[in-house]
Amino acid sequence: MPAGTDIIYRVNAADEISFTNRQYDEFARDNDGEKALSTAVLHCSLWSFITEPTTQNLYREVLRRVRDGRSIQFTFRCDSPACRRLMEMIVVSTDAEGVEFRTRALLEESRHPQTVLQHHARSSGEFLRMCAWCNAMNADGDWVEVEEAALRLRLFEYSCLPTVTHGICDACFTKMKRTLSEPPNTA
Ligand SMILES: [Zn+2]
Repeated sequence: MPAGTDIIYRVNAADEISFTNRQYDEFARDNDGEKALSTAVLHCSLWSFITEPTTQNLYREVLRRVRDGRSIQFTFRCDSPACRRLMEMIVVSTDAEGVEFRTRALLEESRHPQTVLQHHARSSGEFLRMCAWCNAMNADGDWVEVEEAALRLRLFEYSCLPTVTHGICDACFTKMKRTLSEPPNTA
């Protein structure tokens, strides 16, 4: 994809969101609705959006490394109910202790819509854990693709679906730790 389609946001030295580009708003409108638009997130702390403790610790480490002068690059999944999306993120430092997050889609493919990923008004009161990095879901202890999880957990038989909560799976945690511990000149 051309660089002009990159989704960009920046935080200042206090980790507050200080800039978002047009592509950020277009992506937010299509995927997360009004609550994610720049008007709602600008000047807010990054940590009010990344609240899950393990993920927050990883992101804090990313910011620390970037402010130390290296860039961090990793891929992650950002699926929607009807689309699998592989994204790449590059995190670099800007002036005055700021940090820029630059995201682009590497791959997109459509699929049969996964109802568990749709926002549903009625919830069963149960929770399903999803890895925020590879979008795998935890089905009885195994991290599997959402299609597989729906089969294993018999989600088709539910009239009310569980609520999806975000975390990180063991494989992604290990991979991120490895990325963060690479020496600066290989980044
Ligand atoms: Zn994962």
